[in-house]
Amino acid sequence: MKKNWNLLENLTRCELDKDFPTALSFYKDAVSKNIHLNHRHFNILLSLCATCLCDPKAKPIDNSLRSDIHRIGYKIFNHMLASNIKPTEADMTPLVVIAATRKKGDIAFRLVKDMRFYNLCPTLSSCRIPLSFFCENLEVDKAYSVEEYMVSMGVKLEEKEIVALLEISALYERAEKVYSYLQKLRESVSCVSETTAQILKNWFSLKSASKMGKLDWDVGLVKEAVLKNGGGWHGLGWLGKGKWKFSRSRVGSDGSCSGCKEILVDVDIDLAETEKLAELIASLSFDKEITATFRNFQEWLHNHNLYDSVVDGKNAGHSEYGGFRPSKLILVVKELYNKNKSPLAILDDQHLREVSKAFPAFLNQWRDQQLFHSAPNGASDWFCLYAAVKRKCLIVTNDSINSNPKFLILGNNFFLKWKEQYQVRFSIVDAAAKLKMPPPFSSVIQMASKLN
Ligand SMILES: [Zn+2]
Repeated sequence: MKKNWNLLENLTRCELDKDFPTALSFYKDAVSKNIHLNHRHFNILLSLCATCLCDPKAKPIDNSLRSDIHRIGYKIFNHMLASNIKPTEADMTPLVVIAATRKKGDIAFRLVKDMRFYNLCPTLSSCRIPLSFFCENLEVDKAYSVEEYMVSMGVKLEEKEIVALLEISALYERAEKVYSYLQKLRESVSCVSETTAQILKNWFSLKSASKMGKLDWDVGLVKEAVLKNGGGWHGLGWLGKGKWKFSRSRVGSDGSCSGCKEILVDVDIDLAETEKLAELIASLSFDKEITATFRNFQEWLHNHNLYDSVVDGKNAGHSEYGGFRPSKLILVVKELYNKNKSPLAILDDQHLREVSKAFPAFLNQWRDQQLFHSAPNGASDWFCLYAAVKRKCLIVTNDSINSNPKFLILGNNFFLKWKEQYQVRFSIVDAAAKLKMPPPFSSVIQMASKLN
């Protein structure tokens, strides 16, 4: 086997130029000279197979190459396997794309499912290809089966996919499916796009939409379901029959709708998911000593549950000129106290010492009222996040509170939604803290509380 150092350079240039024909000639040349190809070479070649079919900016290919591309793609893929290279999803996705462009949706879906043979878990990037193929070609049951497969693999759908499924379900008048996708849309997208709004409008103006729905229901049961879901939605299916009215209206800063006069509610995060988030935060790994202190803190928190807000002490006292200013923290805590949002300040040990030095009287008073808790240096934000999630109370910080990759288990938007609902930001103006509370209502699909 010979090595050719120029091959990668040449293929990379083709990749940039989106030039499959030239890349193919380099490949053929390499094969004829018995040159060893590595994973990167194969991956460029495979992705170019798909690029030249779907990217309008790709270098044009003639018809004979176009009709042969699936054969070439498989040949390259099999060559890669024969070279003992374990494929990744990125290597297989081009084959899925090629199948879909050849109108072979079943093959595209099978390829996605075949990823398991290589110990790969497909993600949205490959699953969305057969899904959108079946939606575009109106093969409704096949589209549902791709979605079921995605759910079974833990792949979350995004707005585009949910809406495609919703649209095709509306077309086939599958009212229960429309309802379930509406629910999924509600769970994963906060504010829908203009295109989605139009598709929803189309559904609600259909005759079948007015005919669906139960005629009686148990009001108590509905109320209970709404409460369990955190507000704004009962999830019990279509209730009532009759023509829908579709209109656009403005929502005031207090959440009141100018159209129907209902008030949008602050939809709470699902209880089970919140508990899971708290567990995930608790499972983040730190060194032994910090973890031991954290276990004590968990126990302490369990017995002290009368807080409405948790203050990230390090952030509240953070000075824009660097360093820590105890007076800023005190202003924030005072303001929360005045606003009846019983605060718990969580402070790194070193900052606690600074507060105690500068304002000993305050610290004593706080101690009596149990308004603070210390944390090992550098760990206070972790303690703070846990306390806020666990106790379902406000978190006071100007920090962006970045999501940890572990939280993705709960879905991309979950942590963002949690933040939107629980984070209080603050500013210090004229020696007083001004708090910016989370919005009083959630920007999410909601159902009217008056069911009629
Ligand atoms: Zn309204």
